[in-house]
Amino acid sequence: MKRYYTSDTTWGGVTNQMVFTHDTEVWIEQATALVNTLDSDGVDELAEPADLQVFLESHPYFGLVAETEDELAEVREVRSQLGRLWQVADRDDAVPIVNEILTTAGACPFLIRHDGWDWHLHVTPTDAPLARRMAAEAAMAFLELIRADDWERLKTCAGEGCGNVLVDLSKNRSKRYCDAGNCGNRAAVAAYRARKRAQ
Ligand SMILES: [Zn+2]
Ligand SMILES: [Zn+2]
Repeated sequence: MKRYYTSDTTWGGVTNQMVFTHDTEVWIEQATALVNTLDSDGVDELAEPADLQVFLESHPYFGLVAETEDELAEVREVRSQLGRLWQVADRDDAVPIVNEILTTAGACPFLIRHDGWDWHLHVTPTDAPLARRMAAEAAMAFLELIRADDWERLKTCAGEGCGNVLVDLSKNRSKRYCDAGNCGNRAAVAAYRARKRAQ
């Protein structure tokens, strides 16, 4: 799992395998992880404010965190809004959702340097509520997918009974399984056993 501004990639993507800019890839993976905190069987990994703190440890957002029930409710609202983006038919249907998020979040891009990071993009004031920052950053990333006509990179995990969403950032768009739950390995083992049986 890539961490916010702590990954081993460099800004601008000089030496790595990135398809989009660093911020875009981080933001969209953060959004994916957020959507996946609600399982398809209804189990909510963000049931209380403490759960959100656990999520933020592995998916940090720059800025203040209130650790309140209200904040959690707002984050869950953003989560369901972002989850809808995996359900639309195509990027045309995604545009109104993304535009609405950008407007509601008051996204206002600006350049900033902090914590040793060179100039990079922020889209909401640092003191904006957490949910607003999460929504705006996610929307900026989805915006890139739409502009690049790359909407098919948003997928649902092919793992049996999984239901997690994923964003395929591989060069050849070959990713089929989510990173959680070992889905890819399980499918490989099942395919291996099927081959064995066929022999
Ligand atoms: Zn930053
Ligand atoms: Zn999966």
